[in-house]
Amino acid sequence: MKSAWSEADAQAMVARYAADGITADLALRVYTTRLLGSDPSLVLHGGGNTSVKTKVADLNGDIVDVLCVKGSGWDMGRIEPAGLPAVRLDPLRKVRARDALSDEDMVRVQRANLIDPMAPNPSVETLLHAFLPHSYVDHTHATAVLGLIDQENSRELCDEVYGSRMGFVRYIMPGFALAKESAQVFEADPNVEGLILDKHGLFTFGDSAREAYERMIEMVSLAEARLAKNRKSVFVSASLPDDIGALPSIAPILRGAVALPDPKVQGAWKRLILDFRTSEAILNFVNGAEVARYATAGVITPDHTIRTKNWPMIAPAPDAAELGEFRAASRAAADAFTAQYRAYFERNNARVGGTKIMLDPAPHVILVPGLGLFGLGRSKKDARVAADLAEAAVEGITHAEAIGRYSPIDEADMFDCEYWSLEQAKLGAAKELPLAGQVVAITGAAGAIGSATAKAFAAAGAEIALLDIDGGALVDNARKLGGTALSIRCDVTDDASVRTAFERIAETFGGVDILVSNAGAAVQGKIGAVDDATLRKSFELNFFSHQRVAQHAVRMMLAQGTGGCLLFNVSKQAVNPGPDFGPYGLPKAATLFLARQYALDYGADGIRANAVNADRIRSGLLTDDFIAERAKARGVSEADYMAGNLLRREVTADDVAQAFLHQALALKTTADVTTVDGGNIAAALR
Ligand SMILES: [Zn+2]
Repeated sequence: MKSAWSEADAQAMVARYAADGITADLALRVYTTRLLGSDPSLVLHGGGNTSVKTKVADLNGDIVDVLCVKGSGWDMGRIEPAGLPAVRLDPLRKVRARDALSDEDMVRVQRANLIDPMAPNPSVETLLHAFLPHSYVDHTHATAVLGLIDQENSRELCDEVYGSRMGFVRYIMPGFALAKESAQVFEADPNVEGLILDKHGLFTFGDSAREAYERMIEMVSLAEARLAKNRKSVFVSASLPDDIGALPSIAPILRGAVALPDPKVQGAWKRLILDFRTSEAILNFVNGAEVARYATAGVITPDHTIRTKNWPMIAPAPDAAELGEFRAASRAAADAFTAQYRAYFERNNARVGGTKIMLDPAPHVILVPGLGLFGLGRSKKDARVAADLAEAAVEGITHAEAIGRYSPIDEADMFDCEYWSLEQAKLGAAKELPLAGQVVAITGAAGAIGSATAKAFAAAGAEIALLDIDGGALVDNARKLGGTALSIRCDVTDDASVRTAFERIAETFGGVDILVSNAGAAVQGKIGAVDDATLRKSFELNFFSHQRVAQHAVRMMLAQGTGGCLLFNVSKQAVNPGPDFGPYGLPKAATLFLARQYALDYGADGIRANAVNADRIRSGLLTDDFIAERAKARGVSEADYMAGNLLRREVTADDVAQAFLHQALALKTTADVTTVDGGNIAAALR
C-alpha cells in the first residue's frame, strides 16, 4: 500500500477552503480523511474516523480549543469541513476522571459541547480521539490489519510485526471504557506511533495530517507484508455438482427462502433485496470444505454486525438438474438460520437482563458454494452495503486463515455491538415505506403512464425495473428515479427478449414481486374491413404480450413462494367499445379476462391479479395533436374535451399510477378492475 499524499493537492485544498474561512488545519484534515475514505481496503461504509485538535471561534467570538471529529452520517471519502463538527476539548477530557459513563451520557456530553448545536453527532469514538494528545488522529478498520488481529495470538503477531512502534489495546466495545484504556496504553509508552485495537482496527497519530496519514499507510503495509509471508494455501474445496445452477434461477429461490411472513398482516411478507457478488477469491472461500467453520465464526470487526449480522447463511451447492431439491434444502437452511438467531438472541438477552428488542432474524449475507455470495437488505442500497462488507470479510478471513486460524470477538461481544443501546433506541424511529423490500417490473416504462407508475412505486419504497422497447428514453427515466433503478430494453412481443429481461431482474434484485404490464398501442380500424394482419398484430401487443410477461413473472413468483401481484393496464375499450377501435378494444377485453384467469388460477399461491381501466390520458397513445383534432371535431375546447366525464376533471397518468399502487397495496383484493376515467357511466362495470 502506497501513500497517496500529494503536496500540490494538499496545498490546493488549503487554498480552496481558505476562501470559505476554513483553517489550514481543518482543510488538511479534510484532505487526508478523503484519502483514507476513498480506499475500501482501509475504510468501508462508516468503518473509520479521524480528528484534528485546533482552535475555533465559538458563538460569542471567543477562541477555544476544540476537537474537530468525524460526524455521523458523513462518508469519509467525500467529507467536507461540516462533516467534522467542532467539540470543546476541555470538557471532553474532563470526563476521563469518571469511573464509568453510559453510552447515552457519552452522547449527551459530546452534543452539549458542540460549538454548533445544529452539527451532526460526533463519532462514538470521539473520546478516544480527545484523550490522545496528538493534533491528528486517524482510525481505520483496514482489512489487512484485521487479518493479523483476528487471531488467537494477535498480540504476539503484532509484537512481531510492529515491535514497540504500536501500542496494543485488548478488545473492548467502542465507548468510554475503550477510550480510557487506549489512553492508558498510550501513556505507558508515549513513543508509540499508533494503537492496535484487538479484533477491531487501528489508530495512528501525528503532529501533522501527513504524519498521521502516512503512519496509517505504513502500519497497514507492514501488515500486508506479514500476510504475504509463510502463507498456507487456503481453502481446500468441497466436492461440488458439475453443473451449478445459474444465478437467475437460484436467486429467486433463495430470496423466497429467507423472506419471513409478517405475523401481523395475513399475506404480507418481510422480503429482502439481493446483491450478488462473485470472483475467484469469493469462490475459493465459499467452496471450501470447512466453510461452515471459518465463515460463521463471527464478524471481522464489530461494526459489521449491524449490517451483515454475526454470521452468514450457508446455502447448499445448487445442482442445475436438481432445483427442486435445492429449493427444499435452501428453505431448511433458512429455517435453521432463523432458529439459531433466535436462540442466540434469547441466550444473550437473558445475560443482559432481558431488556433488548429482537432485530429481524433473517440472514443479511448468503454464501452459495459454486456460485458466490449475496448481500441482503430491505433496499438495494442496503444489500450492496452488506455485500461490500461480506467481500471484505472474505478477504480478511482468507488472510487470517492463510497465516493462522481466524478468531474474532466472541458471541457475547458481538451481541453487545448488535444490540448496542444507541442502536436499539433508533428502532421504530424511522418508518419504513410500504413497498420496502419489493421489486416491481414495469413494461412500457418509457411512456407517460409507465413513467408515472415507476415514480409512484419508487416513492413507496420499491426497487424498480423499467422495461421498454425505447431503451434511450428508459435510461433517462431510470436516472430521474435516482440510484438503483434498472432499465432494460425489452420487446414484449418477443419471448427471448422478455426472458432475458426477467433474468436480468433476478440477477440484479433477486426476483420480482409486482408486475405492471402496461405496454400497449391503440390500433384503429372498422372491424368489418380491418385486415387480418393489423388485428393479429394488435392482439400480439395488446393481449399476448401481457400473457407473456405475466407468465415469466408468475414463474419467478412461484419459485420465491411469497405470492405476488400482477397489474394490467386495460383500457375502457375493454368494456365500452369506441367506434373504429375494435382492433384495440378486442385484445384489451381479452386482457381484462386474462387478469381474472390469473386471479382464479393463482389465488391459492398468494398471487393477486388486478386491472386498471383508464380513459383519455395524455400520453403516447393520446398525443397533443390528436387531442386538438378530436376537440375540434367535437366543437369543444381541448380542456373540455379532456374533462369530458362525469366529474369534469382531466384524468392524468399520475392518477393511473396511484390506482396501480393502491391495487399493489390492497392485499385482500384480487380480480379487481379499477376505473380511472373521471366517470363514464357507459364504461362502468356492473
Ligand atoms: Zn472503529
